[in-house]
Amino acid sequence: MISRLFPVFAGKNERELAKIRPIVGRIHRHEEALQGEPEEALRELTQKWQRELSFYQPFELPSRRQVKEGDEESRRRLAASLQERFDALRAEFPSLPRRVEATPESLEQARLGWHRMEDGLDAARARYLERILPEAYAVVKNAARKMVGHQATVCGQTMTWEMVHFDVQLMGGIAIHRGLIAEMQTGEGKTLVATLPVYLNALTGLGVHVVTVNDYLARRDAEWMGELFRFLGLTVGCLQNSQQPADRQQQYACDITYGTNAEFGFDYLRDHGIARSRAEQVQRGHYFAIIDEIDSILIDEARTPLIITMPGHDASEPFVRHQPAVARLVRRQVELCNGFATEAKRLLEAGEKSAAGVALLKLKLGQPRHRQFLRMMEQPELRRLVDKTELSYQRGGFGKTLVQLKEELYFSIHEKDRDADLSEMGRCFLSPQDPEAFTVPELDAAAGEDERQLFAARAVDVHTISQLLKAYCLHERDIHYVVREGKVTIIDESTGREMSGRRWSDGLHQAVEAKEKVAIERENRTCATITIQNYFRLYQKLAGMTGTAETEAAEFHDIYQLDVLPIPTHRPNIRVDENDCIYRTRAEKYQAVVDRIAKVHITGQPVLVGTASVEASETLSRLLKRAKIPHAVLNAKNHAQEAAIVTKAGERGAVTVSTNMAGRGTDIKLAPGVAELGGLFVIGTERNPSRRVDRQLRGRCSRQGDPGYARFFLSLEDDLMRHHAAPNRMAGMIEDSAARARTLTGASLGKLIEAAQQQVEQHGYKIRKRVLDFDDVMNLQRSIVYEHRNEVIHARDVREMVQEILREGTAVTLRRYLAELDPEQPDLTSLRQWAAGWGVEELPEDLVQLPELLEASYQRRVEGLSAERFEPIERDVVLRAIDHHWQNHLDDMEDLREGVFLRSQGQKDPLVEYKNEAYTLFSGLMDAIQEASARSLSRLVSSVAPVAG
Ligand code: ADP
Ligand code: MG
Repeated sequence: MISRLFPVFAGKNERELAKIRPIVGRIHRHEEALQGEPEEALRELTQKWQRELSFYQPFELPSRRQVKEGDEESRRRLAASLQERFDALRAEFPSLPRRVEATPESLEQARLGWHRMEDGLDAARARYLERILPEAYAVVKNAARKMVGHQATVCGQTMTWEMVHFDVQLMGGIAIHRGLIAEMQTGEGKTLVATLPVYLNALTGLGVHVVTVNDYLARRDAEWMGELFRFLGLTVGCLQNSQQPADRQQQYACDITYGTNAEFGFDYLRDHGIARSRAEQVQRGHYFAIIDEIDSILIDEARTPLIITMPGHDASEPFVRHQPAVARLVRRQVELCNGFATEAKRLLEAGEKSAAGVALLKLKLGQPRHRQFLRMMEQPELRRLVDKTELSYQRGGFGKTLVQLKEELYFSIHEKDRDADLSEMGRCFLSPQDPEAFTVPELDAAAGEDERQLFAARAVDVHTISQLLKAYCLHERDIHYVVREGKVTIIDESTGREMSGRRWSDGLHQAVEAKEKVAIERENRTCATITIQNYFRLYQKLAGMTGTAETEAAEFHDIYQLDVLPIPTHRPNIRVDENDCIYRTRAEKYQAVVDRIAKVHITGQPVLVGTASVEASETLSRLLKRAKIPHAVLNAKNHAQEAAIVTKAGERGAVTVSTNMAGRGTDIKLAPGVAELGGLFVIGTERNPSRRVDRQLRGRCSRQGDPGYARFFLSLEDDLMRHHAAPNRMAGMIEDSAARARTLTGASLGKLIEAAQQQVEQHGYKIRKRVLDFDDVMNLQRSIVYEHRNEVIHARDVREMVQEILREGTAVTLRRYLAELDPEQPDLTSLRQWAAGWGVEELPEDLVQLPELLEASYQRRVEGLSAERFEPIERDVVLRAIDHHWQNHLDDMEDLREGVFLRSQGQKDPLVEYKNEAYTLFSGLMDAIQEASARSLSRLVSSVAPVAG
């Protein structure tokens, strides 16, 4: 199947490249012509294109009322600038009016003409860019040529410019402009590739965003490539985590802005969810985002949405209340489990394997992180024994169910599902008088208020205890978190980095705080959130580059409509990929790795070792120390330092140990003489669940035609092998070859492992897709509310905006009154009172006219007030109404989401349920916002201009 599909894809890529190649020829011809020109010629061309492209920019027209009431002078200015635009665009849009006069009528004609063609502007701009592309790329390349030898300081280091775009770089640049992902190997110079589409698109004045994986790279690239852009007369900005809003605004105002995805995403959320005026908003639109290391950002980082929170209500009480009892309970369980451990050992020595298996299983359910248990689980045969025992319980093999077995413990923990359950024994221990106190009662539709309250209270208790148990039994201090200055900070397991500011959700963080007896912080309340996927979907144009995208091509296509185009390398790649070596145990594997490093190191050839976690890096570092091999360890704590170490990884005799993701984006250049030794030797100590990450590691060597080697060392005890590959089959293969050698290599094993990786990749994709399916519902709602909110902030004519809000909001209230009227005996008293509050004493004959009357009364009352002072207050009142209801709505949506999963035991698809109920909630929300806005405005005007009389 795969082999049959492959040529089709290969053909498609070839066809795409064939379309691009002739353009490269045209760029060359333009560039040759530019070689004889002075620098100034490049800047003049840039300015000419900028001017012509500015005509395609959106035009903010004043409202009709403002035109009418404005003075002669402003009408003249408006007419002149419209005339200029129309003349420039008439070739593309022949229907635009020929003459714009400074009269309200002519300006109205012009407005209509402009609106009619507005939708065509994006396409026209795109045609313009396509037309100038070859010459514009030639300008960039020629600028690079003219800059050769130029010196600049980049992140504190002096650099000399010596890059002129290669042909493959021109091709990559064209692919990116066309909205593709350019797949270019590590070291091919993607940073320079991006300068081409960045320059071309920055000419539009709409702002090009270049997205990097960390702050350090944003600064490095902005400073280094900035030299080229400034040479051409463009402005370059760079977002850094520490910047204040005013500073950020300046960065966004530039033609080009570099920054991380989190900086861009959070700025969007702050602009649309929190800012209260135009002055507080920092972004100015989403035209084109070019994402470097696009797989890392759109796939690896896309699992967790961006969230802005504020402290919610205090929910510490149940944790404080239950903590002492749970601590006692855990101690009891530990004693019980110590017994199981001793028993298991005795039984094993006595050769009673099956009984030992039961004792071990109880240990696993009772204390999955029990020291002795973890140590025993390092022996593969014992691990198999536990797995087998668990399986036969699930199949009822012991005449007992797993549930019955769990009743022999105080509570049971499911490490994989992250679940903890009290048993009957545990409940009796916690509450001897009333063991039922910790069960959640059944609740049916007929339940009364008392029953509901009892249900809610018990649900909180059960949840709290479960979280406390997890805090005690699954989360270890200094492994999963650290406690410093009275705060619990999570440690990222794969990088070892402290993730300050992040909190475990769902009360787990509070439980750990209760366990550590530090102050329990409030559960945060979400006030704005978006997934990375939906943030990048905001852009009119999206593209990117990376060394590794092909394995995830399907996901890029389905979710972002991005296609991947592999670009050939500048020089042929001569890396030698050796077959994987597989060992039975981790210990044997590490020994083999150290032996290999020692052998390579003696020759002076540099070695780069990739590991899957900080822990593995440290283990390896210990072994290397023992073998007296000097080495550097990267622990992913500081990107700038990291870059400094990685840069040296290509020097003679260097041994560098690094987690897989560390140092990404930093180039490893070979020092003189190293190529003759064979180049960089890359060693992988574990296959990552994703093939992409493995390719990323391999790609660290053999840049731009350098020699290089890559080899992976694996063991059957690696997580990937244990969970996903067919370890038994491999073990068999190893046994077979044991007579011959201690290791096993070979292509067939490689296939087995790839299949396992594919399985994990697909699983990951499903999870990301699911997160997105749910967020899509929110996304639609968010875009409607944010758009409305933004209209309020940006409304040029506050009077018109207020008019609309008042009419719609009062209409909602009116409908509610009418619906409550008794048709037999309509009593209009309360309706009358309401209208009187607005200053309307007489109800109209036809009630439909009432909103208009209320609105007119409002406008009369504000007439005498200073618009300059009053209008910002009106705007603010409306924004508050929106925010209040939207944030409550976010809470409701979160509850709904949890709710549909609880209910999903049945046959119903939670997503469908979620969509239906979300729709109902949302239509209520929009009404509530309108009504509340009108009500707040009414209160406001009553306080400053009470109804006369
Ligand atoms: P990538 O992001 O593709 O891994 P980088 O952008 O970090 O690669 O560039 C790798 C190295 O190649 C850098 O040291 C850069 O200076 C160099 N380089 C890129 N393009 C050129 C070029 N056209 N000529 C000379 N050196 C180049
Ligand atoms: Mg790069």
